[in-house]
Amino acid sequence: MNVIGVDLGGTKILARSIDVTTSKAKKRVKSPTPKDGPESVLDEIAAVVAEADADNACSLVGVGVPGLLDRDGVVSQCPNIDGWDNDVNVKAGLEARLDRTVVVSNDVNCGAVAEHRFGAGSGAADMLAVFVGTGVGGGIIINNELREGARGIAGEIGHITVTRGGRRCACGGYGHLESYAGRAGIEAEARRRAAGGEPNMLVDLAHTGRIKSRHLEQALLAADPVTTELVAEAVEALAIGIGNVATALDLQRVVLGGGVVDKLGQPFVDRIGESPAFGGFGSKTCELRLAERLDDAGALGAAIIASER
Ligand SMILES: [Zn+2]
Repeated sequence: MNVIGVDLGGTKILARSIDVTTSKAKKRVKSPTPKDGPESVLDEIAAVVAEADADNACSLVGVGVPGLLDRDGVVSQCPNIDGWDNDVNVKAGLEARLDRTVVVSNDVNCGAVAEHRFGAGSGAADMLAVFVGTGVGGGIIINNELREGARGIAGEIGHITVTRGGRRCACGGYGHLESYAGRAGIEAEARRRAAGGEPNMLVDLAHTGRIKSRHLEQALLAADPVTTELVAEAVEALAIGIGNVATALDLQRVVLGGGVVDKLGQPFVDRIGESPAFGGFGSKTCELRLAERLDDAGALGAAIIASER
């Protein structure tokens, strides 16, 4: 079955015509994401889809969006896309433009489904995918199906509490996993430490720019004391969060990916699994694996979800 999968990102829109049974792509089209608001973004998605399916062979389009959405395809927040401040019905807007059925999903869930079908999650009926990048996102597969939850936000593991009264999270909460393990949370803490008289290599490497995952890798390899401490805290937070979810759901497997995991690699994943903080019964039964970083995983996952909805 051929489906158009679209990955909407902050900088580019990618569309692929995909055979969802094999993951093979027939055509791939890329275009910059417009900066002047959601209507222009929808126009551009429609243009990219039309080009990816020039012979009108696909009646189904799956779109992965980097934001919060409900089951009707209304996207309320896309912090990475300029001018996206209000509710936008992406499904209705695209169906009107394309004359095809459109299924809209969260991009992290798309990544989770792609890993489950064609990546490191293959063969596990029950799994959690965790993506550690700027923030921490996740997707839950139960009995080989994506678990979306009542509001569509199941798997938002970045915002579970791992420390009572801990660091303030970007969402306004306290002690959430993302504020310890996400790149932005680590950056905020490194800068706070530097300002409080604890100079560190992360701030030295990034200067006034963003502290990137590669800076984290570099400072960790150099055994910078503050970085070593912050990475240990990230490992512990991930072990607590993942261990608890694995216990609650009796998971077979957890797949870890995202920019931070890509840089710190297998040793980082091993440390999470071996941490004494990996609690509950989860550690006894659950296997942790590095994500396979499939090509265009977002577009692939969006197409798979659309084909199964
Ligand atoms: Zn939070």
